[in-house]
Amino acid sequence: MALLSLRDVEVSVGDLKIVKGISLDINAGEVHVIMGQNGSGKSTLLSALAGHPKYKVSGKAVFDGKDLFRLKPHERASLGLLMAFQSPNEVPGVPLASFLRRAYAARFGREISPFEFEKILNEKMAMLGMEAALAKRGINEGFSGGEKKRSEILQLAVLEPRLALLDELDSGLDVDAISKISKMLEKLITPQSSMLIVTHYARILKGLKVDAVHVMRDGKIILSGDQRLAHKLEEEGYQWVYRSI
Ligand code: ADP
Ligand code: MG
Repeated sequence: MALLSLRDVEVSVGDLKIVKGISLDINAGEVHVIMGQNGSGKSTLLSALAGHPKYKVSGKAVFDGKDLFRLKPHERASLGLLMAFQSPNEVPGVPLASFLRRAYAARFGREISPFEFEKILNEKMAMLGMEAALAKRGINEGFSGGEKKRSEILQLAVLEPRLALLDELDSGLDVDAISKISKMLEKLITPQSSMLIVTHYARILKGLKVDAVHVMRDGKIILSGDQRLAHKLEEEGYQWVYRSI
């Protein structure tokens, strides 16, 4: 059975339907990519799967054998379905490390002392080649674009999601920064960990074994293919897809 199975999933905000019938299966260990022009509903789909309360959902979503849409956001997270926080508000005075320790306790259902957690955190940061000082700073307090992205990656490393939902991890980064992020992602992938990655750029996928690339337009998947599709879209844009369908 697929780790995540979607059938005719629709997502609305108020009376406005944004996602208009998505069906998709992601197995354990698979990396799926969603590409599509701005406004096609990619972020809405990911946020709805994570359980953001502002969305109304219909259709069927099964995660790890459970009816996903009946689970509260924190229940989804503790099952291992995680969307890293993306450019959230600054939380001055709350160190990133404290936030991550609370998130760790929620994810794995056990409290952990700051001392014990620091060991885990240092290990993860060393593995990713991150400077330890980052975790001591207030959440996103004065973080540069690259530091915000690294804090997202660190969340993934610490929380070990079974399915990570990654929304434009590469937005606003220069080419070198993208290649660094790409190398970090590569280190996080295990045979059990699945990812659903929204991106505009094929280069962040470089070191990953991508199982499927899906093109979204106007709330639907209009084409699916393999990794080559990501490169073709980056180089040639979307018009050829629209014309061919
Ligand atoms: P993408 O991530 O593919 O760029 P989004 O999911 O962010 O697309 O948005 C898809 C469409 O839904 C856009 O036209 C956007 O304006 C609209 N939309 C998203 N969220 C809301 C909202 N809360 N209220 C009204 N419209 C929204
Ligand atoms: Mg988006």
